[in-house]
Amino acid sequence: MSDTDRMANVEPVRLSPESQFKFKCHPGIECFTSCCRDINIILTPYDVIRLKNKLNLPSDEFLAIYTEPQLLEKTGLPVITLKFLEEEAKDADGKLCPFVRENGCLVYDDRPTTCRYYPLGVASLSHKEDADGEEFYFFVHEPHCLGFKEDKLWTVKEWRKDQGVDIHDEINAEWTDLLVRKRSFPPNMQLTEQTKKMFFLVSYNLDKFREFVFESSFLDRYEVDEATLNRIKRDEIELLKFGLKWLKWLLFKEGDFKLKADAAK
Ligand code: SF4
Ligand code: SF4
Repeated sequence: MSDTDRMANVEPVRLSPESQFKFKCHPGIECFTSCCRDINIILTPYDVIRLKNKLNLPSDEFLAIYTEPQLLEKTGLPVITLKFLEEEAKDADGKLCPFVRENGCLVYDDRPTTCRYYPLGVASLSHKEDADGEEFYFFVHEPHCLGFKEDKLWTVKEWRKDQGVDIHDEINAEWTDLLVRKRSFPPNMQLTEQTKKMFFLVSYNLDKFREFVFESSFLDRYEVDEATLNRIKRDEIELLKFGLKWLKWLLFKEGDFKLKADAAK
């Protein structure tokens, strides 16, 4: 099934945190793991941190092995998707997630945000045209998914809590905000290639961003206090938050980032 076919299955129903639905997914279900093929999974910055650490890889190796670049519709911003693999079986149809095994997901505890939300989608991570502004959820109804026939009742809020998406959404909040706000830019306001590169570096290649901060002329140009430097040196979530603050300043000239007097001249 192509991505277009999949998007055609997306029901245009806006769900709120209190919306209810019946659903259960478990290893005994007939369709087990059939949702882990032929799907476009956009990775968030926190997804990459969790996955690269799970696999014990530096960020650029993780990106090279497991991801593919893509330009996000309406923003021109570079994002990455999980690179799916051709199935080995001759009569196989579609591509498989590199982490799916017969008994489930190899990286389950660190699975991406999109996999946690499924069978819900979240507007800010979709390509939906009406995904600007207010955050909302929707069902990704796929014919092979039998979980809707089970008898467990959830609200969207309960599902999010059960799947552990809150921490992902909290850490990705500033990044998601950049995507949503950039979508509402007039189409003639293009980003420079350099700004796109910086967006990619901060969002996905934190090891290289750390080098950029500490080993280039970055600290000659920007005022960064000692406490912040210590925090971002040892904690990659803090480094990501710092990078996102800087991107906000680059893209929208907002926030308290300051150029040093010499650099400002
Ligand atoms: S990361 Fe795990 S849950 Fe997500 S598609 Fe791959 S195997 Fe399935
Ligand atoms: S297709 Fe639906 S019910 Fe089946 S394993 Fe995937 S999420 Fe669970």
